[in-house]
Amino acid sequence: MTPMANSKDQNKLFDDIHWQMDILQNIDVGLVVMDEHYTINVWNSFMQNHSGKAPEMVLGKSLFEAFPELPEAWFKHKAKSVFVLKNTAFTTWEQRPYLFRFPHYRPITGTAEYMYQNSSIIPLLDSNGIARHICLIIYDVTDTAVNKLAQQQANKQLQNLSRTDHLTGLFNRGYWELRLIQEFKRFDRYEQPSSLIMLDIDHFKKINDSYGHTVGDEAIRAVSRSIKEQVRDLDIPGRYGGEEFGIVLTNTNGDGACVFAERLRTTIEESTIYAEGHEIKFTVSAGVAELDEQLHDHRQWIEKADQGLYRSKEAGRNRVTLLP
Ligand code: GH3
Ligand code: MG
Ligand code: MG
Repeated sequence: MTPMANSKDQNKLFDDIHWQMDILQNIDVGLVVMDEHYTINVWNSFMQNHSGKAPEMVLGKSLFEAFPELPEAWFKHKAKSVFVLKNTAFTTWEQRPYLFRFPHYRPITGTAEYMYQNSSIIPLLDSNGIARHICLIIYDVTDTAVNKLAQQQANKQLQNLSRTDHLTGLFNRGYWELRLIQEFKRFDRYEQPSSLIMLDIDHFKKINDSYGHTVGDEAIRAVSRSIKEQVRDLDIPGRYGGEEFGIVLTNTNGDGACVFAERLRTTIEESTIYAEGHEIKFTVSAGVAELDEQLHDHRQWIEKADQGLYRSKEAGRNRVTLLP
């Protein structure tokens, strides 16, 4: 090969490298090349623009010295496997919303928030096939993430709407029954005790007739507030009908449920509601049924608690009856 050709080849090689460096600098993803000590060797303009740190501020420094807020142990664990196994490690924004906390201004919502990121760590092999460097690639996935989060939020709201009784905020009849059926099946499998309370406002027609529907509604709301205050997270309170409520108490036997129902009954008996300039007092009756093997489906469970409620009404109201 003539010296002429040699220098031509070399020029072409330098041109190629120059162009490749240009591309890497200007590509719209973040690129960070590091060695085994996490010393930063390459820091492209994406990283510079979003972090506000110029290459001279970070080159030659360890990644964790330049960015002490990074999750060091987590990152090293991931990177180690890239160095050793020489395969790529991915992290999505759903696993970890971002690696570098870069601000992100979204004109659509007008809110400044951080940039959601996917990231990959790829091994860079030397001529002996050994990974002495890794390249961290940062993708800006804010648009995708924000859309997906908004969609999830909307779905959740829709789901809540279709589960919730709008007057009381308790579960509506349909959803409540679904949950009751689930609880019935759970009992079949695990035989954990579970009890159902059916509760109805006494002489509710009188409240409606004397003070009007709006005051009646307020009474229904007052009962549901007391229920919400007293249930635990795993209990299932619902509005069964007009002024009738169903409450499933999980992991609770009949006696425990009676204590609960009795407490609810006295709370309501002792409280006064104020609506449309009236002061109103009223009471509730309840029936309690513990789930057992003799109940063949969830309907029978409801019927049994309903019978208890009926007996409470028959015996003079404002009381709780447990059916054996
Ligand atoms: P009891 O002590 O036997 O339960 O007597 P009661 O008057 O409460 O009788 P009942 O349970 O049959 O009364 C239900 C009444 O509730 C009938 C209906 O007009 C009224 N109602 C049903 N839904 C609503 C509602 O959403 N708001 C209001 N204000 N009233 C309702
Ligand atoms: Mg009633
Ligand atoms: Mg009723």
